[in-house]
Amino acid sequence: MIHVVAVTVGQWGIRVPAREGETTRRSLIDEGALDLSLKVRRDGDWLLLPLLDWREGAEQCTFEQNPGRIVLPRHELVGGIAIIQERDIEGAQKILDSRPSLHTIVYAIGEVSGEYRTREFEVLAGIPTTRTEVIEYGHRFHVDLAAAYFSARLSSERQRILRQTGRHEAVLDMFAGVGPFAITLSDRAGLVVACDLNPRAVELMLENIVQNRTWNVLPVLADARRLAGIFPWRFDRIVMNLPLSGTEFLPEAFRLCKDGGMIHFYSLVATDGEHREYIRELGGEVLAERVVRSYSPGQWHAVYDVRVGG
Ligand code: SAM
Repeated sequence: MIHVVAVTVGQWGIRVPAREGETTRRSLIDEGALDLSLKVRRDGDWLLLPLLDWREGAEQCTFEQNPGRIVLPRHELVGGIAIIQERDIEGAQKILDSRPSLHTIVYAIGEVSGEYRTREFEVLAGIPTTRTEVIEYGHRFHVDLAAAYFSARLSSERQRILRQTGRHEAVLDMFAGVGPFAITLSDRAGLVVACDLNPRAVELMLENIVQNRTWNVLPVLADARRLAGIFPWRFDRIVMNLPLSGTEFLPEAFRLCKDGGMIHFYSLVATDGEHREYIRELGGEVLAERVVRSYSPGQWHAVYDVRVGG
């Protein structure tokens, strides 16, 4: 008689009602976030889905290994590109062979750095390019990973802010990159001004505006410090996604926001409520503070939803 011993391992998991399990499983696969080497687990009326990485709502779980699965190196998907953190050429080829939707596998050489928040990549398998196209909630974004910042992990944040955006609002995206927040919010807003300092990011944003037939996003190549001098009006809503140094731009954002308007301020923090005092001093009220994702042990990306004045 053969005894099959199930191997269990610890991994992050997300708990969803069983009836929503298949929909969530498919969207996690599309995002490249499901750990396919592990089996989905049932827990009463819930399913626990194994994740490759932490995300909001994730909990530490144990899962059985999926014996039939080829174990692939950890990777993050951005459109047709998979990014891996190890220089594993064999592993890169395995990923390429196992996912027909991918055209390129890259190794991230360094950390995101510099004013433009870009990083260097080495192509390990597939077509030698860092350009790809990302489809996110019906929008298509041209992305060049080496030339301008883009993170697929912020897609649910963009949807969260879209749900809060009112019809006819004037929105400002101070650090817009290739335009994913700006183009998403343009579905509801009256006008979105989308500013970035990186000329390649603004070029890609223009391509994305044309590709999505967006008529109400105004791309601006500028230093966000100068925006109050360029625009004579004030905005209903401001998105500030520059987590490492966004704090220094907060006074500018307050100058640019209407009384009663909203600022979504992203920041890298090490304690709860880290910026609350400063925001109060500037004349804002923190309506919500949420974890967006973990960054390193003891540090995480937080978003503050701030009501300006009153
Ligand atoms: N919001 C975009 C997204 O979610 O993909 C991009 C966010 S990225 C973290 C920050 C962006 O801010 C980069 O594209 C960078 O070029 C831009 N940036 C940095 N300093 C800036 C400044 N002083 N003025 C305007 N943009 C700036």
